[in-house]
Amino acid sequence: MATIFSRIVAGEIPSYKVAEDEKNYAFLDINPVAPGHVLVIPKKEVDYIFDLEDDDYVSLQSFAKRVAGAMKKAMPCQRIGVAVMGMEVPHTHIHLIPINEESDMNFFKEKAVVTSEEMARIAQSIANEMQETHSELF
Ligand code: AMP
Repeated sequence: MATIFSRIVAGEIPSYKVAEDEKNYAFLDINPVAPGHVLVIPKKEVDYIFDLEDDDYVSLQSFAKRVAGAMKKAMPCQRIGVAVMGMEVPHTHIHLIPINEESDMNFFKEKAVVTSEEMARIAQSIANEMQETHSELF
């Protein structure tokens, strides 16, 4: 059965899309650790990130780098933090999180409350930054 993330890529389940290219897709985490928390996934369904073929791994990481660049411009923050765990959804995903201090990467604290309007606005502003710098992806 397709993972929930494959169903998002297929358009069967809605997402706050930020960007996509031929191999990868980026969208807002529905339960964000901080506003602007993005998940970057390969369209190919692979559970464990280090099981990706080398070229797919490099493609995913360089796509994540471009998304992080757009996030840094769109969100007020010091840095974009990166985490990979994948214990919940068996479809590899890189968490990109706008942070100002290390404790902002805490996945166990109460999640941020972000309205659907704000989620849509954040996704759009990151997408706009992506489009400005990487129009080849659109
Ligand atoms: P983990 O597998 O532990 O790295 O975490 C999975 C992440 O996926 C969590 O942060 C969830 O909030 C997120 N998530 C699960 N379902 C969705 C969805 N439909 N749209 C966006 N994010 C999701």
